[in-house]
Amino acid sequence: MDSRPLNLLGLDAAGLKAAALSWGEKPFRATQLMRWLHQRGVADFSAMTDLAKSFRGHLEAQACVRTLEVVRDHTSSDGTRKWLFDVGAGDAIETVFIPETDRGTLCVSTQAGCAVNCRFCSTGKQGFSRNLDAGEIIAQLWQANHALGAYQADAGLKPDRVISNVVFMGMGEPLQNYAATLSALRIMLDDHAYGLSRRRVTVSTSGVVPMMDRLREDCPVSLAVSLHAPNDRLRDDLVPLNRKYPLAELMAACHRYLAHAPRDFITFEYVMLDGVNDTPEHARQVLALVRGLPCKFNLIPFNPFPESGLIKSSPAAVKAFAQILLDAGIVTTVRKTRGEDIDAACGQLAGEVQDRTRLAERSGRPKTIMLTRSAQEAR
Ligand code: SAH
Ligand code: SF4
Repeated sequence: MDSRPLNLLGLDAAGLKAAALSWGEKPFRATQLMRWLHQRGVADFSAMTDLAKSFRGHLEAQACVRTLEVVRDHTSSDGTRKWLFDVGAGDAIETVFIPETDRGTLCVSTQAGCAVNCRFCSTGKQGFSRNLDAGEIIAQLWQANHALGAYQADAGLKPDRVISNVVFMGMGEPLQNYAATLSALRIMLDDHAYGLSRRRVTVSTSGVVPMMDRLREDCPVSLAVSLHAPNDRLRDDLVPLNRKYPLAELMAACHRYLAHAPRDFITFEYVMLDGVNDTPEHARQVLALVRGLPCKFNLIPFNPFPESGLIKSSPAAVKAFAQILLDAGIVTTVRKTRGEDIDAACGQLAGEVQDRTRLAERSGRPKTIMLTRSAQEAR
């Protein structure tokens, strides 16, 4: 890893400006630098031809563009592409690109592991390892843009819009890593960097109420809330953070968020678990809970893993549940499972790597990165 101190990938406009000023440069130099880094994807300071020589000298001596080491890069039969990155000390994170006809969505991670420990989530089962910094979050976008050819399309101008949307739905709880998430969001939205619209950047949260309020003030982007249960008893069990921020507080925070949100609705995610949260009675409780709150529902087929002890809902149960919401006038979609042959959903691959890495550590064997079951089966 590059040991020069300042990783430019994690600096938003204010951070780059502060760096430029500290080297005695004019603030507009920071804007030029931002364009080189993020619009053109350039990491080599000597290629930044319109920067003053003195500025390039400071950059060479004190700054770097720190990328992540790719452990695996796999494209599924449906075009979904997934990278596994080594972020040091045995930790791995994942990033997924999902191409669709009218857009391309990148799903980024914000933490190695996660402290929330939802019952149905393999990332949660790993426990929390550490927060990613803003540079590590932006590196996922920067490297995906490179890998997808976005920077080659037009020498010199903005990256090709191969990635039109970003969702914070990879590993980790973004609102428990607020400062880094906020800097990364600002870089994603900056017109001199990626220039993504607020509507096309979505933060997904399990419901960290005070930070939902902060985000609303600091950088309101589209919000997805992982609901998963319509009453506190069940949600306490599935999403333990609910004991701290119960549903009444969560719903109130959603109402407050809407006043600033770039879209006039909140998206609720709801992972469908057989016999646990998927009955018509649960659907009716959902209706009562969200009455008066403009929202959409995204029903997610559960991606099973052995230790969870949970089973995915039957297609009939999902359909019946969706119909109850639709009949009440709520736009409801069932998430397509993409990239199943490479386990592109939610922490699965990195989960396996972690478990086996830790196992190897305990048994004193050298660390090896293993493929997931399904990735092996797909071969
Ligand atoms: N921590 C944030 C964002 C990352 S999780 C959050 O919880 O919202 C992104 C989404 O994947 C969440 O809605 C989460 O509930 C869902 N998810 C986690 N594990 C899953 C699994 N095994 N199958 C299907 N969806 C899962
Ligand atoms: Fe963390 Fe989200 Fe997984 Fe819950 S679902 S454990 S909040 S990553």
